[in-house]
Amino acid sequence: MTRALTILVVLWAATAEAKRPACASGKRPMCVPWDFDRPARCPALDEVKWRWDGNRPWRECAAKKRVRVWIGRRTGRPVALEKRKTVTAAQGDKVYRDFPEGWTSCQKDKGPAFELYTQNPRSFAVFVDPVRGACVLWLGSRTDVSSKVEKGGRLKSLGAAHPHVRQLTRELVRRAWKAKIPIHVISVYRPHKPKKGWRTRTYKSYSHWHAWGMAVDVNLEGFTTLSEPLKRYKSEPAFKAKWDALGAIARELGFTWAGDHKSKDIFHFEWHPGHGGYIRRGELERFLAQAGRAGRVYERTWVIWPHPYVTKLPPPPDDDEEPADEEEDDEDAPPEVDDADAP
Ligand SMILES: [Zn+2]
Repeated sequence: MTRALTILVVLWAATAEAKRPACASGKRPMCVPWDFDRPARCPALDEVKWRWDGNRPWRECAAKKRVRVWIGRRTGRPVALEKRKTVTAAQGDKVYRDFPEGWTSCQKDKGPAFELYTQNPRSFAVFVDPVRGACVLWLGSRTDVSSKVEKGGRLKSLGAAHPHVRQLTRELVRRAWKAKIPIHVISVYRPHKPKKGWRTRTYKSYSHWHAWGMAVDVNLEGFTTLSEPLKRYKSEPAFKAKWDALGAIARELGFTWAGDHKSKDIFHFEWHPGHGGYIRRGELERFLAQAGRAGRVYERTWVIWPHPYVTKLPPPPDDDEEPADEEEDDEDAPPEVDDADAP
């Protein structure tokens, strides 16, 4: 009986496979179904109540219909919609949690994804929903990383980063391991330290992006120092090629890689659209106005980079706290970025 059922299921799956238009050839690794809410009566993204499945968010809408689309890559370039089908919530539920980070945003939501999409079209599929108009679907972290990569890549430490930086880094690490460049996260959040006399003196950069949850540092597996990989990056072409390949993956995802800049800080990746590598005095003042005088509630600056997962910001600090001691040193210097490079 069980055997007969298995055969039936296999036959059914094979038929379903054959029905897919351009995906049927099996030549397209990205040609996979995605299920997501088609929420005719779903709240706007900034009013959404996100549910948590372990550490992964998903949202629930009043509408009980879900949309399934098949996404394909055309000659490695932009991702395209292959087919659309409405599925019931019951069917959708079965696979929905397979794609917890596949969020969508449609024009009616005035969602922030549209801005992200403009900056990084390769990570999104565009489609037209008959009810909601033009929508974008984030593809960056379609699959969960394996437990080996989760552990080896030390991805747990990403909790302090902005959700999009978190997603980008998970995907960077996943793709790097796949490309046989195992890396791990070494540093995410480091608190803001005001520079000596910052209100009167002039600095190239008044802070660093780690202090606002917008930067991560990684290293190659097997290295415990920065000096050795940096030395080999400068002297061994094959070793340099590995890091450059990592930089290329990062660029494709939308990260800024400091290895591309004068500083050659190959370990450092950051994302902060609309802002350059240096944090100007006016920007710092804006961050501190949000995050408190010492910059401790740094997540509050994320209103500047809205994201579907950021729905509730922590309360503002009561701000009796004295700012940390001012520092002269520059160990947290951001990458050198020419102003011309700023988006
Ligand atoms: Zn860094």
